[in-house]
Amino acid sequence: MDFRLSEEHQMIRDMARKFADEVIAPRAEEMEATGEYPYDIMERMAGLGMMGIPFPPEYGGSGGDWVGMHLCIEEISRADVTLGGLLDVTTSVVGQELFVFGTEAQKKKWLVPMARGREIGAFGLTEPGAGSDAAAIKTAAVVEGGSWVINGTKQFITNIGLDNASLVIITARTRDASGRDSINTFIVPKGTAGFTLGKKYDKMGWRHSATHECVFEDCRIPRDHFLGKEGKGFAQHLAVLETGRISIAAMSVGLARACFDASLKYAKERVQFGKPIFSFQSISFKLADMAMHIELARNMYLKAAWLKDNNLPHTLEAAYAKLFASEMAERSASDAFQIHGGYGFMNEYAVSRYFKTSKILQIVEGTSEIQRLVISRNL
Ligand SMILES: Cc1cc2nc3c(=O)[nH]c(=O)nc-3n(C[C@H](O)[C@H](O)[C@H](O)COP(=O)(O)OP(=O)(O)OC[C@H]3O[C@@H](n4cnc5c(N)ncnc54)[C@H](O)[C@@H]3O)c2cc1C
Repeated sequence: MDFRLSEEHQMIRDMARKFADEVIAPRAEEMEATGEYPYDIMERMAGLGMMGIPFPPEYGGSGGDWVGMHLCIEEISRADVTLGGLLDVTTSVVGQELFVFGTEAQKKKWLVPMARGREIGAFGLTEPGAGSDAAAIKTAAVVEGGSWVINGTKQFITNIGLDNASLVIITARTRDASGRDSINTFIVPKGTAGFTLGKKYDKMGWRHSATHECVFEDCRIPRDHFLGKEGKGFAQHLAVLETGRISIAAMSVGLARACFDASLKYAKERVQFGKPIFSFQSISFKLADMAMHIELARNMYLKAAWLKDNNLPHTLEAAYAKLFASEMAERSASDAFQIHGGYGFMNEYAVSRYFKTSKILQIVEGTSEIQRLVISRNL
């Protein structure tokens, strides 16, 4: 077994790290405070090919793999976990769904601009009555002439509110000729008549990530906007969410590293009782545990990504990585706050932002309880 990163992986990691340090980190606090979407940063990320790492060049990508993609997500998330989330939704979930299940025409039309980062994608699974129980959706699609007509509401949808978002891939119920009910997936381009953005959510963190309600009222899309195989839409969505879980794990590792770096520096500088607080074991042991858990969580997401790259089953490994890493990130943020004492509560200290943004990693793309359900069902 060889744990060393390949030359290509090191190059991706170093490129993303440099960009994160030089371009994203200096803006992270301001973006979170104002909630303004950083279109200029997205454009530069696109220019560096970040949205297309795992896709072949003929579909706008760079022909890399999922290990490389996740090393990139970790580095970006260390500077700003919200932009890591942009990569997760655009590439790991939406881009991948188009790549794996799309027709050649769908890939050329929608995946290519997304992999090049010129357009951003969104996925719409959650509804007011269907969160963890994602199969309980009520949104319905029926055939009328040459079109699908969609009615329903999706909530908490990431990315679709961005000016450069081109589409949302949604799940909807359909009934076939024999009356059989199933869940299928549809590509709904932004600007389609009958598709409007509802409420823009006012969030406690990730404020520069666009989160909206999507409303479909007699929304008519051509028949060829159906994605994948009939009756398999739900399974398709769950399959790509597996990769999304690896991405949330990489985002969590990035955030935990930011917590660790800030806390180690602070603990060596802050003097109490005549000594740097790092010399108190209760502080240095927190940092020792943080470092160990970061290493472990990174190994977990890299293993899951490696299994995916090698077409090996990774349901369990993706769930392990998401569950462990997201809970670890929240603990790291809490310990970072504690190490900073009262300053941890002050907005001018980055750890207060890390604390506010850490909890949501245990919710999105399957809560911790749902990961435990996935794991226990596979034991
Ligand atoms: C910022 C943000 C961005 C999001 N982006 C998207 C997006 O882009 N696309 C999208 O489709 N969705 C998105 N979501 C939705 C997200 O995936 C859901 O919030 C999540 O799946 C949980 O669903 P819920 O909020 O309805 O909670 P619920 O499902 O109502 O869960 C409430 C609590 O009950 C627990 N619970 C539920 N069922 C069980 C069970 N069987 N066993 C044990 N415990 C259980 C849950 O773990 C949780 O603790 C986003 C959410 C947020 C907050």
